[in-house]
Amino acid sequence: MLKIDIKKCTGCKICEKVCPFGAIVIVDKIAQMQDNCTLCGACVNTCPEVALSIERRKVSEKELMLFSGIFIWGEYEEKDEGLIPKKVVKELLSQGRKLADRLDQALAVVVLGDGRLTGLETLIANGADRVIRCKHKLLGRYTADSFTNVISAVISKEKPSIFLFGATPNGRELAPRVAARLHLGLTADCTGLDINEKGEMVQTRPAFGGNIMASIVSPYTRPQMATVRPNVFSFGELDNSRKGEIQDFYVVLSPASIRTKVVAIEKLRDEREVSIEDADIIVSAGRGCKKKENLKLIRELAEELGGVMAGSRSIVELDWIPHTRQVGQSGLTVGPQLYIAVGISGAIQHLVGMSSAKTIIAINKDPDAPIFKVADLGIVGDAIEILPVLIKELKKSQSPCSNS
Ligand SMILES: Cc1cc2nc3c(=O)[nH]c(=O)nc-3n(C[C@H](O)[C@H](O)[C@H](O)COP(=O)(O)OP(=O)(O)OC[C@H]3O[C@@H](n4cnc5c(N)ncnc54)[C@H](O)[C@@H]3O)c2cc1C
Ligand code: SF4
Ligand code: SF4
Repeated sequence: MLKIDIKKCTGCKICEKVCPFGAIVIVDKIAQMQDNCTLCGACVNTCPEVALSIERRKVSEKELMLFSGIFIWGEYEEKDEGLIPKKVVKELLSQGRKLADRLDQALAVVVLGDGRLTGLETLIANGADRVIRCKHKLLGRYTADSFTNVISAVISKEKPSIFLFGATPNGRELAPRVAARLHLGLTADCTGLDINEKGEMVQTRPAFGGNIMASIVSPYTRPQMATVRPNVFSFGELDNSRKGEIQDFYVVLSPASIRTKVVAIEKLRDEREVSIEDADIIVSAGRGCKKKENLKLIRELAEELGGVMAGSRSIVELDWIPHTRQVGQSGLTVGPQLYIAVGISGAIQHLVGMSSAKTIIAINKDPDAPIFKVADLGIVGDAIEILPVLIKELKKSQSPCSNS
C-alpha cells in the first residue's frame, strides 16, 4: 500500500498533480490516498519531502492468474521520413503473436508520444490485437522519467502477464526503471522467448560471460518482463486484413516529475557510424585479415556496397575496431540482408550474432573453416588478394562506362 508520512507532508500538492489516476488528494494540507490507487509509484519519486513510500505484499498464485495479455513497448524513432516504429518492435510483435496464441491471450503494443504519432494501423498489421496510445505533449521526446511513469501506470491499470521491451539503448534504460518501480523481475538482453507447460515465459539469455545459455522464469511477479536483443526474431509480411483496436490511455504528466530535458539531438557525423544493428549490408573482418592496415580494404568494400564495417571479437581485442562494431554473443546481434565474413573462422560465439543474416558470403583460406557451414556462398583463398579484385570488379560494374 501507499504510505504517507503525515509528519513530513507539507501539503505542496505535487503528488496530486502527477498522479495519473487522481488517487491522491490534499485535504487540510495533508495528502490522502484514495481507494483507486494502483500503486503505480509515479508520486513517490516526486515528493520533495520524501513523505511517500510503497509497501508491496507478495502476490498470491491466485492473483497472478488474473494478469493477462502480452504487452510490447512500441518504441518509435525519428527518421528523415518522420516518426516510425523501430525494427525491433516488428520483431517483438512477430514473436509476441506466437506467445499470445500459445497462451490464448491478446497481444497489445503500447505507444507513447505527442500528436505526431502515426502509422498505428501498421502495428495491427504486424500482429497486435490492441494498440494502447499514450498521447501527451511531454511525451514528444523520450525521457526516462516520463516514459517510466506512463508505462508503470499502464501496467498498474491493465495488468498484463508479460511486458517486452527491445534491448535498445532506451529500452535498456526504461525496463529496469519500470521493474524497480513496480518491484518486478526482469531478464535483460534475451535471445529467446518461449512458454513452458505451466504457462510461464521462459527467457533465454547468455550467462557467465556467454559460456552457458540460461533459461529464466519469473514465477512470483507479474508482468514477467524482459528486454530482447534486436535482430534475434524475424518478422513476416504485413497482414493488412488483420483487425484490432486503437485505444487511448488517459495520461497525466507534470513537468515536475521529469528531471531530464532533451536539449538537442545531433545526427551521427558519418554514415559509417550507422549502428551495425540497423545495417542492411555488413562487411565483417576477422583475425584472418592479418593486420589493422588491411581493414581499409574491408571499409572500401563496405562503402562500395553501401554498407558498414564490423568484426569478430578477436579484432576488437586487438583494438582494430571498437566494441560497438563487434558481432556475436558478447557483442551485437545483427540481421542484415548481406553479411560478408572475411577471415573469420565461424566460432559458435560469432555465429549466434549473425546467422539470421539473409545471405552470408564467407572468404577464408581454410576450406574446412566452420563459417562455410552457414555461408550461402564461399570463396576459398587469401582475403588480402581477393578483396582488391572484388572492389575493382564492383567499381567497374558501377562505372557509367560499364556495359553491364
Ligand atoms: C564467452 C565468449 C564470448 C565470445 N563472444 C564472441 C563474440 O561476441 N564475437 C566473436 O566474434 N567471438 C566471440 N568469442 C570468441 C570466439 O570464440 C572466437 O575466438 C572468435 O570469434 C574468433 O575470431 P576470428 O574468427 O576473427 O579469428 P580466428 O578464429 O583466429 O580465425 C581466423 C580465420 O581466418 C582465416 N584466415 C587466416 N588468414 C587468412 C587469409 N589470409 N585470408 C582468408 N582467411 C584467412 C583462418 O583460416 C581462420 O578461419 C567469444 C568467446 C567466448 C569464450
Ligand atoms: S508531494 Fe509530498 S509533501 Fe507534497 S503534498 Fe504530496 S506527500 Fe505531501
Ligand atoms: S501510487 Fe500512483 S496511483 Fe497511487 S497515488 Fe501515487 S501516483 Fe497515484
